[in-house]
Amino acid sequence: MHHIPKKSLGQHFLTDKNMIAKIIRSFELLPGYKILEIGPGEGALTHELLNMDCELTSLELDTVLAENWKKIAQDRCDFNCEEVDATKIDWEPFLPVDRLVGNIPYNVSRALLYKAFKHRAGISELIFMVQKEFADKLVAKPGDDAYGILAVLSHTFAETKLLFTIPPSVFFPPPKVMSACVKLIFHDDDINDEFYIKIVQTAFNQRRKTLRNSLKHYFTPELENKFDWGKRVDQLSPNDFCELNQLIIANQQGEA
Ligand code: SAM
Repeated sequence: MHHIPKKSLGQHFLTDKNMIAKIIRSFELLPGYKILEIGPGEGALTHELLNMDCELTSLELDTVLAENWKKIAQDRCDFNCEEVDATKIDWEPFLPVDRLVGNIPYNVSRALLYKAFKHRAGISELIFMVQKEFADKLVAKPGDDAYGILAVLSHTFAETKLLFTIPPSVFFPPPKVMSACVKLIFHDDDINDEFYIKIVQTAFNQRRKTLRNSLKHYFTPELENKFDWGKRVDQLSPNDFCELNQLIIANQQGEA
């Protein structure tokens, strides 16, 4: 189908066959896998996924594009398309999945990542095409300029890799910036993500202060000797944050 790309929906369609093949290989699919795709668009990835002997659900916000996929889905028992805003709906009915994939709109990358973090127990691996700058924020290590909330969360919940960069020339229309393919392999954890995210965000919101000041609402004298509160947030690794999180929870429960 020929669709006029809508800027408001971040529509930059993949057109390069070699790049599409490279991205599909990075999904490492096996027959029978359950896949959730965000934003099938004109189907650069979707058409390939429909040939992989997998079960596919695609979520598309654009009415015209979604209608097209819904028609195709009528003739298949291994494919379903929903016309929805993937940032707003509950993903639970589509989970668990072996792969969450998508060449996702740049303006909702953060919202989609947070949603994936929330639903990580039902997602084995996530592979997204994102703006390169956003990918850098996901894979950054302590000391890197891009190190911040996203890096701490992604390293806490997953093994996070930047697989390869993607030039503007493989999209129509070409975006103004480089893109990258990132993979997050989620591991099991029992972290209360709402509480954890709040601590990480509170600490990073006051980057220049020591933890004793930025996390003063969580700090009590009992915790003084259990952690180095004189550090600044960008000196903390994701493991340090997990330790801090456990200490604060134990302290609040009267066990520290
Ligand atoms: N997968 C196609 C490709 O690689 O060529 C399209 C990628 S395009 C960058 C992003 C797609 O996501 C578009 O089809 C757009 O309509 C859709 N989209 C944008 N915002 C969305 C949202 N909130 N929920 C679901 N789909 C969305």
